[in-house]
Amino acid sequence: MRYKVDFLVVGSGIAGLSYALKVAGHGKVCILTKADASEGSTKYAQGGIAAVMYDPDSYEKHIADTLVAGDGICDESVVIRDLVVVGRQGRIVL
Ligand SMILES: Cc1cc2nc3c(=O)[nH]c(=O)nc-3n(C[C@H](O)[C@H](O)[C@H](O)COP(=O)(O)OP(=O)(O)OC[C@H]3O[C@@H](n4cnc5c(N)ncnc54)[C@H](O)[C@@H]3O)c2cc1C
Repeated sequence: MRYKVDFLVVGSGIAGLSYALKVAGHGKVCILTKADASEGSTKYAQGGIAAVMYDPDSYEKHIADTLVAGDGICDESVVIRDLVVVGRQGRIVL
C-alpha cells in the first residue's frame, strides 16, 4: 500500500507531535513511530518542561531526578547525553 503525504514525521513524542501540529494546516501529515505510539521518553516526563537555568540547579541534579523517575529503565548514558549535550544546544519552541 502506498501513501502520498506532504510531511513524514518520525517519532510520536513531544517533538514529533508538536511539529505535526505546526504543519498540519499546510498539508497531509503522516506520523511514523516505533512500537507503541505512546512509548518514548515523553510519557515518563513528570515535572513539566525542566531545564538547568541557574545555580544552585545543575545537570547532575537533573540527571539524578530523571534516573529516579525512570525507576531503573533509563539508559544512564542516554540520559547524560540528552541532558548535557543536547540540552545545552536546546531551544524551547512553543
Ligand atoms: C524518566 C524520565 C523523566 C523525565 N522527566 C522530565 C521532566 O520532568 N521534564 C522535562 O522537561 N523532561 C523530562 N524528561 C525528558 C523528556 O521526557 C524528553 O526530553 C522528551 O520527552 C523528548 O521528547 P522527544 O519527542 O524528543 O522523544 P521521545 O518522547 O522519546 O519520542 C521519540 C519517538 O521516536 C520514536 N522512535 C524512536 N526510534 C525510532 C525509529 N527508529 N523509527 C521510528 N520511530 C522511532 C519513538 O517510538 C518515540 O515515539 C524525562 C525523561 C525521562 C526518561
